[in-house]
Amino acid sequence: MASPRAEVLVHLDHIEANVALLAERAGPAATMAVVKADGYGHGAVPVARAALRGGASWLGTVSLAEALALRDAGIDAPILCWLDPVGTDYRPAVAEGIDVAVSSVEQLRAVSGARVHLKIDTGLTRGGCPPGLWPELVRAAAASDSEVYAVWSHLACADDPGHPSIDAQARRFAEAYEVALAAGLRPRRHLANSAATLTRPDLCFDMVRVGIAMYGLNPVPGGEKLAPAMTFRSSVVSVKDIAAGESVSYGHLWTAERDTRLALVPVGYADGVPRLLTGRMSVLVNDVLCPVRGRICMDQFVVECDARPGDEVVLFGPGTRGEPTATDWAEAIGTIDYEIVTGMNRPRVTRTYLGER
Ligand SMILES: *Cc1c(COP(=O)(O)O)cnc(C)c1O
Repeated sequence: MASPRAEVLVHLDHIEANVALLAERAGPAATMAVVKADGYGHGAVPVARAALRGGASWLGTVSLAEALALRDAGIDAPILCWLDPVGTDYRPAVAEGIDVAVSSVEQLRAVSGARVHLKIDTGLTRGGCPPGLWPELVRAAAASDSEVYAVWSHLACADDPGHPSIDAQARRFAEAYEVALAAGLRPRRHLANSAATLTRPDLCFDMVRVGIAMYGLNPVPGGEKLAPAMTFRSSVVSVKDIAAGESVSYGHLWTAERDTRLALVPVGYADGVPRLLTGRMSVLVNDVLCPVRGRICMDQFVVECDARPGDEVVLFGPGTRGEPTATDWAEAIGTIDYEIVTGMNRPRVTRTYLGER
């Protein structure tokens, strides 16, 4: 079998175990596994199946199209979708039993007949119904042909435990719930993302919506036994020895101080290796952490290591063999691991699922 060019390994057994841990933390609340953006780059359908095995009972997507793709794959669990453009045809949501988020009276009309989750903006100030318009929305929903399953909101700073906005949002959420009750609704409630599920059991209500932690990346670093679910690997194509004084890759940013052995790896920024990692990246080759030398290019980079053509190169993974993690990459370039793993959905990167049952 050929050595991999650029391969993402998805450890579905890790996802299953992570969901089981989160579901336990959620206590009596149901667990919604958020599989938007193709399962944060891991593959929505296999991730959804693994999450349901792990104890999730709901799935969450952003678009209706993402939700319909899960139905097409034969997944019959309840699904909520929460953001589509004006003019979207919601008849398939009704036909396929997909719940839809609603933040305004206009949206309520557009989703006519679908089961809805009314979204209150409690302070994220992104989507959601402004508190001033909420009484009108709940009254319209109570009088509509849509079943109101839940009221919900989303936290701005849950990854910063103790941030005063969390309690402020919880208070506004409680007020919005009272308004819904007064309008005659008896909705369920959901508010918590991964970070809140791990740190605020009091905010888990009837359901939690977990994303990043299910993929094994912890938004609130602590002692959690989460297992990162993605490994990114490639392999050595060729090896060469260079003399002291020779410089490497575009711009000659790195010059060998002594005679050096270099290996060529056929992945680059087109495959999800951020060019900004130039000069700050090591990879695992034959269980040794080896520095990348010179510029990361579109399709390839060079590593200082003692390797042979065909040897495996691990770029990031769970970290258990000493390889970097997606979180290490994110910290090195000033972003979050969400962006690293979600950015791995690339045409030249193949995906292999492990731990499937
Ligand atoms: C993405 C998303 C989540 C999951 O957030 P994580 O931080 O990944 O757990 C929950 N709710 C909504 C509305 C989202 O968009």
